[in-house]
Amino acid sequence: MLLLGCHVGFKKDTQLLGSLKEALSYHANTFMFYTGAPQNTSRYPIQDGLTLEALTLMKQEKFDYSKVVVHAPYIINLANDKDPDKYKFSVSFLQEELERCELLGIRYLVLHPGSHVGLGVDTAISNIAKGLNMILGTHPVTILLETMAGKGTEVGTTLEELKRIMDLVDDKEHLGVCLDTCHLNDSGYDMSKFDSFLDQFDKIIGIEKIGCVHVNDSKNPLGTHKDRHENIGFGTIGFDTLVSIIYNKRLENVPKILETPYVDRTYPPYKYEIEMIRNKKFDPNLIDKIKEQVL
Ligand code: FE
Ligand code: FE
Ligand code: ZN
Repeated sequence: MLLLGCHVGFKKDTQLLGSLKEALSYHANTFMFYTGAPQNTSRYPIQDGLTLEALTLMKQEKFDYSKVVVHAPYIINLANDKDPDKYKFSVSFLQEELERCELLGIRYLVLHPGSHVGLGVDTAISNIAKGLNMILGTHPVTILLETMAGKGTEVGTTLEELKRIMDLVDDKEHLGVCLDTCHLNDSGYDMSKFDSFLDQFDKIIGIEKIGCVHVNDSKNPLGTHKDRHENIGFGTIGFDTLVSIIYNKRLENVPKILETPYVDRTYPPYKYEIEMIRNKKFDPNLIDKIKEQVL
């Protein structure tokens, strides 16, 4: 069954119940959320009552919770250990994030490998593995390393780099990969040749390691190392390529998550993008319609 969803909020007062209701309002059958604001690490305690209410609603709606994912905040950086306090903070925050995932019954946590900020890729790779080795295996949660666009000094922009990190991690069972189509495009992988990309992925890492796909169009051409997401069908990757990735049989049981931008920074596009993807027919006027709220 196609698992198609999007990034949703996680608010202090409604938590998982609010996230689920938001996903349902978009007709999504899976979702991803941050346990607080993506750009900071202030977090509220998880309220078990709200989690239970959400689980009850999922049962009623026959919602498959097993592949819902959490995304760790961007400011965690395991790649650079120049400042030992900052590095320690990243590791301990990630540990707490795994605890929150466990409390919420979440099995997958998406993580940006990090940026080396001058230390070089080799040192960064060993730092990332060192950090992961300190925390993996302590919780029944799998960390999915996201493929990065190569903006600034990001690590994990090639399959080879991800493989090198994975090779150094002891608990391989709890480590996988999250593909991001915008990031892959921006880092130089041609998404219009997705099957040969998957062959390459399978050879280097193993296709069974793909735990999630972030489906985004890109504002920039192939290989530009930018990382600016675009709405589905309105960017350089294009609707047909993205739809063929979403429906690719080899990734059938992998959740597909939209992280496309809000229209005018105000209107979430997800309900309409999900509908358009399910119809497999591009609507060139979609953004204008969302803007004018005439849908
Ligand atoms: Fe991400
Ligand atoms: Fe992403
Ligand atoms: Zn991105």
